Amino acid sequence: MSHSQQKREFGFATKAIHDTAHERFAGGPLVPPIYQTSTFVFPTAEEGAERFAGEASGYIYSRLGNPTVTALEEKIASLEKAEMALAFSSGMAAVSAALMALVKTGDHILCSKGMYGCTFSLLNWLKNLFGVEHSLSTMSDEEMLRQAIKPNTKLIYVETPVNPTMELIDLEMVGRVGKELGITTIVDNTFMSPYLQRPIEWGCDLVIHSATKYIGGHGDVIAGLVAGPRSLLEEVQKTTQKDFGGVLGPMDAFLLLRGLKTLAVRMEAHTKNAQAVAQFLVSHPQVERVHYPGLPEFPQHALAQKQMDGFGGVVSFELKGGHEAATRMLNHVSLCRLAVSLGDVDSLIQHPASMTHAIVPREERLNMGITDGLIRLSVGIEEVQDIICDLENALSFV
Ligand SMILES: *Cc1c(COP(=O)(O)O)cnc(C)c1O
Repeated sequence: MSHSQQKREFGFATKAIHDTAHERFAGGPLVPPIYQTSTFVFPTAEEGAERFAGEASGYIYSRLGNPTVTALEEKIASLEKAEMALAFSSGMAAVSAALMALVKTGDHILCSKGMYGCTFSLLNWLKNLFGVEHSLSTMSDEEMLRQAIKPNTKLIYVETPVNPTMELIDLEMVGRVGKELGITTIVDNTFMSPYLQRPIEWGCDLVIHSATKYIGGHGDVIAGLVAGPRSLLEEVQKTTQKDFGGVLGPMDAFLLLRGLKTLAVRMEAHTKNAQAVAQFLVSHPQVERVHYPGLPEFPQHALAQKQMDGFGGVVSFELKGGHEAATRMLNHVSLCRLAVSLGDVDSLIQHPASMTHAIVPREERLNMGITDGLIRLSVGIEEVQDIICDLENALSFV
């Protein structure tokens, strides 16, 4: 390493590829080995007791920690500029572990108006089973945010862009207000990945990912991550992560570590393709409206430029013909795969009102901006002209 390199912190793409974790593994493999083991052998009874007491470092049992999973957690912490990260068996395991470790009966969670369908359903049963309240707010300016905060607000939970309407929330505002009032702020950063948006840099506390999406990137793993300050994450680790036990397996951690190596180039390609697709849709006669932060006419384009390092790969759009038109279009795509999920190298298209957000009652759904004609497209990294031709053909049947 040259003198000039030592003085400068490595850039994102470098950190996503290189790590120090492999130095811990015997034999110095380039890639962290898959520690496909449930338990770890103690050299002596005393050492076993010390590991349980937290007096000696070293692994005990893979629900409490596994070296391949640790390598992933360290890499995500580094990319999100967090002190620590924890890996889970799904995005929802991450969301539920974080929420349930940090609230108790009588607390209130303030949420963005619109969120992942299962997060919405989780909040409802937290209310019904445990008396943890929540409310949804647009948070489009600081006054609105402050007015929505209640004396018992314990957490502010936001998605930005909001799934699937792409509405943005000002992360600097949320982080600052949360710090001032002593409220923990949580950001679901799934749609952006740490390459395009790092909420901790804007003062937010915790970052959550469905790593199933861009972090894995290849549609072959279900996983979740939480990154943030050590004080909060140790709480999550020793309560809900350990005792609910939704931990990630070593093979899945390996797949995510591999996915991360190409995150930077993939996100550049997704963003470039999505911009071209959004521009194509804007000019199509059957399309009523296109929601993509990279369009100059997007109402929060300036905020997108401020807090995002690129506009991402998800485009949603409303068809003039409503639900029927959406059904016809989806039945005629072929390159774009008719499937939920997002963030894969393959383009994926779905209808939120009847699929990902079917669980949200219609009135609430419309209030979230999810109309019957809304389609969500996760633009892949295929040749962009092929994606556009496929959409053009499908739209001709609408
Ligand atoms: C997919 C998704 C989740 C849930 O993640 P799973 O890995 O499916 O459990 C949470 N939030 C957002 C924004 C998502 O897209």
